[in-house]
Amino acid sequence: MSEEMDMPCPCPNCGNIVEMDDMCNHPEDFKTMVCDSCYDKLEEEMNSGQTQDHFGNVLSYRFISDESTIYFSVNGESFSEWNIEDCDPDMSFNYFVESWNKTQAITLRSIKLKTTEIAEFVIQSETGGESYSCEDVELVQSELSHVETHLSNLATTIEPEQESQLSETLQNRLDEYLKS
Ligand SMILES: [Zn+2]
Repeated sequence: MSEEMDMPCPCPNCGNIVEMDDMCNHPEDFKTMVCDSCYDKLEEEMNSGQTQDHFGNVLSYRFISDESTIYFSVNGESFSEWNIEDCDPDMSFNYFVESWNKTQAITLRSIKLKTTEIAEFVIQSETGGESYSCEDVELVQSELSHVETHLSNLATTIEPEQESQLSETLQNRLDEYLKS
């Protein structure tokens, strides 16, 4: 590459001096010109993002515009990909996160821990197969019920809309009860 430039120009983003002809329009602001490498970096930033779910899992996306495909990852492992024609990647990601949280909430609600089978499993793995009494099982079952309550509370936190619906129903019932 020749050292001499026809029209040297500083990139407003990184400050590097580049040839004017090699500048590109800023991907978000058409009034600004940036250098080649800044353009690539900015476009990648625009077409990617991440968030965390309630368990600290990192959900992220990367949109490849040439393929019209959005790639989702969970904790850095690729998870799923959607073909999105004429659809905003940000909105698609929001929808993905929403579905993810909903599925998580449904799963949490459907977990049943307070069963005899699970209590016995816990005791057996703790004691290594020693004999145990009915009281032992009951004790573990009551511990498990706390975990179950904790998980269902967590599910409600994940779906706040459901929470307000639930409290509304409870409030209505309480009002009816107080009136009667
Ligand atoms: Zn630059």
